[in-house]
Order: sequence, then C-alpha cells, then structure tokens
Amino acid sequence: MVVAFDFTGKAIIVTGGNRGIGFAISNAIAKAGGNVAIIYRSSKDAKDVAAKLAKEHGTKVEAWQCDVGKADEVAKTFKDIDEKLGPVQGLVANAGVSIVKDAISMSYEDYKYVYDTNVFGQFVCAQEAAKLWKAKDYKKGSIIFTSSMSDTIVNKGIHQVFYNSSKAAASSIVKQLAVEWAPLGIRVNALCPGYVATDQTSHMDPKLLEWQKKELVPLGRFSTPDEQSWMVLLLLHEEAGGYCTGQQYYVDGGAQAW
Ligand code: NAP
Repeated sequence: MVVAFDFTGKAIIVTGGNRGIGFAISNAIAKAGGNVAIIYRSSKDAKDVAAKLAKEHGTKVEAWQCDVGKADEVAKTFKDIDEKLGPVQGLVANAGVSIVKDAISMSYEDYKYVYDTNVFGQFVCAQEAAKLWKAKDYKKGSIIFTSSMSDTIVNKGIHQVFYNSSKAAASSIVKQLAVEWAPLGIRVNALCPGYVATDQTSHMDPKLLEWQKKELVPLGRFSTPDEQSWMVLLLLHEEAGGYCTGQQYYVDGGAQAW
C-alpha cells in the first residue's frame, strides 16, 4: 500500500510562499497536486516563481502582491484569490520578519515592523480565511501559522526581543482561534521551526551559524526548508491532521531537548 498526501483540486494560500520555508511549502502542496496562491510583499520574481512551480507540477500556482499587515489589502486579496483560484480550503500564514539588535536600542518603529507582519498579519489572514469559510458554511478549513521555537525560548547569541515575543503571541493566537473556531469546523495549528537555512538566517555571522549548529542542535545541522513542509502537509490534510488543533508542532532537530 502506498500512503501519500494528495491535494488534487484543493486551493491553499501560502503567505511568503515565494521563498524560504514558504516556498518549500508551496512546492510541497503543488507537488501533491494542490493549487497554490502565493502572497508576497515586494520580491520582484514572485510571479515567475509561481509560474515555474505551476509548469513543473501541472497545477495552478499564482502570486498576489499584498502586505499582510494591512487588513484592507488582505480582505481584498483573499476575496480575489477565492474567486480566481478557489474555493480556498487552507491557509498557511507563514510570512514573517525579524529585527536583530540589542533590546536597549529597539524602537517603536522596530516593534511595529515586526508585530504588523508576525502578529497582526498572521491574525488578519486567519480571520479573512475564517470569514470566507463561515459565509459558505465550509467546515473543513485548516490554518497553519508559521511560528517558531522562539515562541518559548530565547535563541542563544541572537538579540531579537520583538521577534521572539511576536512568535509567542502567534502561538497564543493559534490556541485562542482553535477554540473559538472549532464549532465552525476550522482547525488552527502552529508549525514551530528550529534553525532553518533561508534568507532570514543566511545574513547571520558565519561563525555564529557554525556554533549554533554544533552547540545548539542535537542533529548538528540546520533544517532544510523542505524538511519543514511535511508537518504542514500533515496539518492541512483532513484525515492525517483531522484531530490536530490548537497545538504547536516543533520541527527543530532536537534543539529544545537541551
Ligand atoms: P524569508 O526567507 O525571510 O522570507 C520571508 C517571506 O515573507 C518572503 O516571502 C516575504 O515576501 C514575506 N513577507 C514578509 N513580510 C511580509 C508582509 N508584510 N506581507 C507579505 N509578505 C511578507 O523567511 P523564512 O526564513 O522562510 O521564514 C518564514 C517563516 O518562518 C517566518 O514566519 C519566520 O519567522 C519563520 N521561521 C524561520 C526560521 C528560520 O530559521 N529561517 C526559524 C523559525 C521560524 P517578499 O519576498 O516579497 O519580501
């Protein structure tokens, strides 16, 4: 018997789906036969990335430019996606940003930049998905926030107070939404990656990266973005993930075991 994830005919929104972990998730969904609506903020090549995925996997993959921190833009974009590529059946609220500097120098602008995307942005995307499903009485929606293992720990050697606290907020929001929306048939979960090799981490000091791999991760290496996507497929899937809601799923190479 072959057990495989099949998302044929399903339409999933992936915010930040054009690069990094989000791209790996878009790729995994399309590879499993699903249609993907990628949301990006400013990358010049997002539409080309989408077209390439569509061609490679023979499914519909399109990119929409939208700042997830702006509620009116999100509402308009979700309606448009639902009409053109939908009906939408799942959401991966993955877009996230960080500012790394000492807490003593952090400003209100730094706070707003991180929280607008990581907290309000993920929340408002979930809210618009829930509105679409409630209006249609669709009771099988699945929402995954990309949170982080930083929702519960402080990363040794990295000063990013607003990032860590924003992820704690995101994981908390997941629990609240899971409880409030269970009667609507909507499941809400958090993927909590450990250290992943993406643009977000590639700009860091190479010495710090090596030290993190050796000293902080029992598996001795960073995760590939693809390794994060499997948990998302499971949580999106009606049968595999059907009893999962309100929970954080850590894919961290054992980093929190130490
Ligand atoms: P990344 O490579 O830096 O990519 C960030 C993505 O988010 C890009 O697609 C970007 O769009 C999009 N984005 C950012 N702000 C946005 C906004 N306001 N509206 C719309 N799109 C926006 O990030 P990553 O490393 O793959 O991280 C993805 C998620 O995983 C984030 O939530 C991050 O916090 C989390 N995470 C990452 C790690 C790690 O080690 N990398 C670990 C734990 C958790 P543009 O391309 O248009 O800029």
